[in-house]
Amino acid sequence: MPYTHILVAVDLTEECDPVIKRGRELAQANDAKLSLVHIVEPMAMAFGGDVPMDLSQLQQQQFDQAKEKLEAIKLKYPDVKAGDSHLTYGQPRQEIHQLAKEHHCDLIVVGSHGRHGLSLLLGSTANDVLHGAPCDVLAVRLIKPTN
Ligand code: AMP
Repeated sequence: MPYTHILVAVDLTEECDPVIKRGRELAQANDAKLSLVHIVEPMAMAFGGDVPMDLSQLQQQQFDQAKEKLEAIKLKYPDVKAGDSHLTYGQPRQEIHQLAKEHHCDLIVVGSHGRHGLSLLLGSTANDVLHGAPCDVLAVRLIKPTN
């Protein structure tokens, strides 16, 4: 069965290029729709101990920056049609699963660093997204360029 709707999760770093490219190749090969999603994680920091800080402005800035970056990515990848990129607040795993369900996606594409050591213990978004996913998940191996 070919895939019909592929959802690529992007962290908006330069590393998202190979992940989108893989998603795009698969979308072309399957004649599937291609969507992007980025999740802005809530700032759960409290500066200065007892001094409560209003983080809403910072959070808004973070959201606006993410929106700009996502727009730039959409210009670079015109296969992503208007309305097929999503920007939300929350926890990546939960929001990506929710979106995949709502939009009947049958494949989620994420980047994976193939971590080991301490960072493996701390986990990765790819691992997180895989657990309880409502559809197939493809982890695209991200390899650091060697100089
Ligand atoms: P990480 O394990 O956090 O280094 O991220 C690996 C992959 O998870 C990235 O290449 C993205 O595909 C996905 N990812 C990480 N953070 C986010 C995010 N905030 N929104 C959407 N996808 C994300």
